[in-house]
Amino acid sequence: MTNNYLTPNYAFADMLPDHASGSRVWDIHGKEYIDFAGGIAVNALGHCHPALIDALTAQAHRLWHISNIYTTQPAQALAKRLTENTFADKVFFCNSGAEANEAAFKLARKYARDHFGADSGKTEIIACINGFHGRTLFTVSVGGQPKYNRDFAPLPGGIRHISFNDTAALHEAVGAKTCAVVIEPIQGESGVLPADAAFLQAARACCDQHQALLILDEVQTGMGRTGKLFAYQHHGICPDVLTSAKALGSGFPIGAMMTTDKVASSFSAGSHGSTFGGNPLACAVGCAAFDIINQADTLAHVNRQGAALQAALNAVAADTGVFKEVRGQGLLIGCVLADQYAERAAELNKTTLRHGLMTLAASNRVLRLAPSLLLNDEDLQEGVARLRLAVSAF
Ligand SMILES: *Cc1c(COP(=O)(O)O)cnc(C)c1O
Repeated sequence: MTNNYLTPNYAFADMLPDHASGSRVWDIHGKEYIDFAGGIAVNALGHCHPALIDALTAQAHRLWHISNIYTTQPAQALAKRLTENTFADKVFFCNSGAEANEAAFKLARKYARDHFGADSGKTEIIACINGFHGRTLFTVSVGGQPKYNRDFAPLPGGIRHISFNDTAALHEAVGAKTCAVVIEPIQGESGVLPADAAFLQAARACCDQHQALLILDEVQTGMGRTGKLFAYQHHGICPDVLTSAKALGSGFPIGAMMTTDKVASSFSAGSHGSTFGGNPLACAVGCAAFDIINQADTLAHVNRQGAALQAALNAVAADTGVFKEVRGQGLLIGCVLADQYAERAAELNKTTLRHGLMTLAASNRVLRLAPSLLLNDEDLQEGVARLRLAVSAF
């Protein structure tokens, strides 16, 4: 690339993608790549899925945008699907994961104020170290990674961080001043670290005891990624608020904050909003994606291919010693680099790209994979073969 006209906050890869289909991507020179990155857990149905193209095109001929002065059939249809298949009764649509979390945190503050009074001081949000919730000032402050927020101080207050999976710390931190606890069922950006069922259950119990809201950030884990529609469904608990984005539009931008009737009622007319939220194009694509993802066959395929991919990666680990652990759930997988290669995830990620495989680095010691939920056997095998070549070169 000769000129880059964009602000320098991204380290763009040395390749210009041109077009794609399923789990294959081609660059402007015609070189072909297997996509195990999935646009960072967004392209849940691979690239250019015909059902999504049809939904987008059909909607494009009907209505693009009309504003939130009106509701629309696609927005109601997607919210109906989300509520009928989860704990939630109501949905707020926005355009990204950060906005969904921003809405969740604002709602938690307002819910506590409505129910316990402005003088109660019930404003504290408990979050996890190394958590990631987005890049707006509030969400990046709730996220537990100083490298992402310290340069933007002063940061919003009333946020406290505990160690992930530390049940004792949770019990110690949650109290009368807590309005919400927020957890990712699998910490994605910081290295594909699953929450223990016991930690999630303890969070539920602490929130019940202290009348705080349990917010699950399923922006990365939701929409079939872990082999269930949402990851909380593995753990025998329900949150009060759940956020979704990434795979929700499977490549078309949309986010959602889902909650119960009781909590939703703290958002009265005018409390919160988003010009593009619930956009008919996004919701029409979301419905088409939902109808494929929420099929027993699709979710069974995720579990099967997730197990097959983890097995293949464990074989690479055993043969080469490059990974010391392969972890994750469904098709969200983290390969933890062995100690002698720690800090070199970004370098391995560049090497895989050179060998025709798109992967992700999460933290500096984990190679993260989030391929299409429809990944077929041939693409899986070919992707792993390219990974082996890349690991040899690395
Ligand atoms: C990606 C991500 C976000 C932020 O989503 P954006 O759409 O980039 O704003 C928030 N939470 C989690 C868990 C994520 O993985």
